[in-house]
Amino acid sequence: MADSQSRQVRWGEKRYHSMDYDLKKTYGEKVYKITLDGGMTCPNRDGTVGRGGCVFCSASGSGDFAGSRALSITEQLKNGKAALAGKRPVHSYIAYFQAFTNTYASVEYLERIFLEAVRDGDVRILSIATRPDCLGKPVLELLERLSRIKPVWIELGLQTIHPHTAAYIRRGYELPVFEEAVQNLRSRGIDVLVHTILCLPGETRQQMFETLDYLNHMDIQGIKLQLLHILQGTDLALQYAEHPFPVPSMDEYIGLLGACISRLRPDITIHRLTGDGPKELLIAPLWTGQKRTVLNALHQYLKEQDIWQGKDYHE
Ligand code: SF4
Repeated sequence: MADSQSRQVRWGEKRYHSMDYDLKKTYGEKVYKITLDGGMTCPNRDGTVGRGGCVFCSASGSGDFAGSRALSITEQLKNGKAALAGKRPVHSYIAYFQAFTNTYASVEYLERIFLEAVRDGDVRILSIATRPDCLGKPVLELLERLSRIKPVWIELGLQTIHPHTAAYIRRGYELPVFEEAVQNLRSRGIDVLVHTILCLPGETRQQMFETLDYLNHMDIQGIKLQLLHILQGTDLALQYAEHPFPVPSMDEYIGLLGACISRLRPDITIHRLTGDGPKELLIAPLWTGQKRTVLNALHQYLKEQDIWQGKDYHE
């Protein structure tokens, strides 16, 4: 019991190591994300690696909340700030390049758009979502230079370690490519954040745990636990319509999350625990649209079951 309480103190009121907790500790206030579209595409869509993209990826390249690519980064940041400032006093931002593959362009172009973001005085962190097979040496060198100006987070879409599921979702790269990317980023002092997807069709609970156990042994700093969302316009939606596969109820998912949090290495920051899909595109599971309800239920569950991050983690 004392152990549990000491961990609660470590992460504020939460029983897990949240991104908000880390950011408030570092910057003294909540830091808000502005989601940007850098105007790129993806090698898994343009034929370089594959066509059609990952089976779950929406038309916007999983960047459904991003600014308009018709606007400059400066303009997207300005709009993002205006939208947030209307609701609350905000001073600090994460410039989050989310849509498509955000290192899939010439280094000159990348340097221009990333510098535009980091030179904004209110931007504290540059966060870039990409694929591990789009991190060649010139890009890595650029990221290292940028990280001397402001912290840089690189988000890698791994989703699963299991080859069968990776083939099903059409991820388009093998696990050693991910491992090399993590190594290259860490040797340059860049933080790595890994995007995983829970409840992919055909994956057992044990297989999901194996992905987490694998990541526990990698030099990563953050994780997103995203429940699989079935979104309109995706190939996954077509498959779901033809052959519906089981999706978890909220209670089932919360039980699963509890077990995941319990076995996750305690220093890994959790950036997401549910889904973040646009409600107008969401086909299933529909309860994920109530994000606050889901998080409240999770917090209650963790308390009742006396679960905290790392409780079942063993080095
Ligand atoms: S790698 Fe990312 S952007 Fe490309 S298809 Fe997959 S989810 Fe979409």
